[in-house]
Amino acid sequence: MTNPFFANWNTPFGAPPFDEIQDQHFGAAFDRAIKEWEAEIEVIAANPAAPTFENTVEALDRSGALFDKVAGVFNAINASDTNPARQTVARELAPREARLDDLRLQNPDIWARIDALYENKGDLGLSDEESALLTRFRKDYVRAGAALDPQKKAEVSDLNAKLAGLQNKFAENLLADAQAWELVLTDEADLEGLPQDIRDAAADVAQERGHEGAWVFTLSRSSFTPFLTFSTRCDLRERIYTAYVGQGCSGNENDNRKVSAEVAALRARRAHLLGYPTHAHWVLDDSMAGTPEAVTEFVGTMLDRAQERARADLTDMQALATEDGGDHEVAPWDWWYYAERIRQTRYELDDSEVKPYFELSRVRDGAFAVATKLWGLTFHARPELPTYAEGIEPFEVREADGSHVGLIYMDWPARAGKRAGAWMNAYRAQNKLDGAVTPIVSNNFNFPSPGKNGMVFLGADEVRTVFHEFGHGLHGLLSDNTYKRFAGTSVLRDFVEFPSQIMEKWAFHPEVMKSYAVHFETGEAMPDELMERLNAATKFNQGFRSTEYSAAALLDMDWHMLETDDLQDADEFEKASLERMGLMKEIAPRYRSTFFAHIFTNTFYSAGYYVYDWAAVLDADGFVPFKEDGIYNTDHAKSLRANVLSRGGSEHPMELYKRYRGQEPTIDALLEVRGFGQAAE
Ligand SMILES: [Zn+2]
Repeated sequence: MTNPFFANWNTPFGAPPFDEIQDQHFGAAFDRAIKEWEAEIEVIAANPAAPTFENTVEALDRSGALFDKVAGVFNAINASDTNPARQTVARELAPREARLDDLRLQNPDIWARIDALYENKGDLGLSDEESALLTRFRKDYVRAGAALDPQKKAEVSDLNAKLAGLQNKFAENLLADAQAWELVLTDEADLEGLPQDIRDAAADVAQERGHEGAWVFTLSRSSFTPFLTFSTRCDLRERIYTAYVGQGCSGNENDNRKVSAEVAALRARRAHLLGYPTHAHWVLDDSMAGTPEAVTEFVGTMLDRAQERARADLTDMQALATEDGGDHEVAPWDWWYYAERIRQTRYELDDSEVKPYFELSRVRDGAFAVATKLWGLTFHARPELPTYAEGIEPFEVREADGSHVGLIYMDWPARAGKRAGAWMNAYRAQNKLDGAVTPIVSNNFNFPSPGKNGMVFLGADEVRTVFHEFGHGLHGLLSDNTYKRFAGTSVLRDFVEFPSQIMEKWAFHPEVMKSYAVHFETGEAMPDELMERLNAATKFNQGFRSTEYSAAALLDMDWHMLETDDLQDADEFEKASLERMGLMKEIAPRYRSTFFAHIFTNTFYSAGYYVYDWAAVLDADGFVPFKEDGIYNTDHAKSLRANVLSRGGSEHPMELYKRYRGQEPTIDALLEVRGFGQAAE
């Protein structure tokens, strides 16, 4: 039997032939794909002809085609439907991919060719997109240290290896410290206030951990957050909270204080070698935000406004605590508990109230209908296309004139072997370097399987998730670029959530909900009153959430704006940082230095924890034109498509955004969305 990865796919639109692909095909397919890619790189590097845009830059973009074909399918189904065979393939693939990266990015001959072309960029007669590709590849090489002399190069790779070890150590310490701690309750009276499902979960944990008949709470978020939210026992809330904020700094063998300081110091040294004043400068040089100053200014403002709101909320909570009697002063471990009590009185909103209005197929059609109204796109079920598991719906997407755009697979249900959460994948990235290649993408969720009536009902958060992932899907589908390096979601990391988060804005807009949020039995639209409560609830407790988030984001920036590579005292450093930002004593940063896994276990979110709120700034500000001129305004839709959704990474995101919005983003719209614009209610 032939390996389907070595044949042309004669399926409709070249859809992956999932019915022919078997697990044993992946190994051989990756072997050949990697060999082919290595050979292609070797040919580019050893080319005796003088470097040209075609024989170097374009050739690099073209290289790895078979690898993309195999990895596009493998990565997607390994995330959505893994099994031991696929896990083995993935484990073996990781180091080989790292070697491939090195082979490309550390290749001195290719670097010399790219650099020579870049020096004469103005004389090459390049189009804007070609010029952007040359600049992009050059930047990839410079950031990886390709431009350094051999000695500095060796120092960088030495630092990389040391950092990998320390980051791993940080993760191991944190895991060990978190797992060692448990709150064992044996008296049912200690559970006062906790709902039954939380008691049941705690009983399960107790059994797993060998405390038969007891209830156990741990430092996993899904365990301690409900406890802090519902437990009426202030003394126990204090115990679990104190353990949470004390992770990684109890002086035992899992202490992370020195590890975090060492990581920060080595990152500073690496930044110096690469020619940047700080690690944050190195990271942000390749971001939409651009500079550490831009980030700290925006996060600092968010923190100030969030704290105003949080202080007002604190006054309400203190009033509640005083009403309860005694002279209890609201402490950091009380925040969740009193916030929940205020939420219940003000916004009483249960998911069971909204679920009958959020039947999955209606929500799906509601999201599709928004794309139809904005861009004329239509969605056509293609049940005959092969899929890899049950519950996946393939759709063909067409333009208003009927021409083909691409395919989107909606993979709805949870299944064993599917990773948690929701995400978008590209089986095939759009490009037109050697003729038009249309995109094939997927949206993945973890929804329940249909009940007896064949229906699935979603909660409000799940509806938001459908629109969010659909936004990523549109970013992939509407891509219109020559080069695959720029296709779809291949954008700078603080821009990638803009298309997804702006789509969420349509999800709960009353005008949109009127069309899809219809009761599954009565056929009646959701009552205005319920819609209002649903939208009001999203503003709730944002003062606290934004405060703890922004404080962590600033702490991250402080560690990575260190100019010196001298080892810091982690306790003193963090204390000074929190004092500088003026953090109120009733709220701790969402993560403290010793358990800030985002920034100390890998590079990706270092000097980058800000990206979540940065994206929120963009989606709030980016939606303003639709808010002002109508949510289905086709002029704005056209501009959003032309300047953002179709352009991928082919231009700096700030330029793309400004062309769409007419100006740089401001935080005003987000302040309003979070309810920070008004006085406390
Ligand atoms: Zn996303």
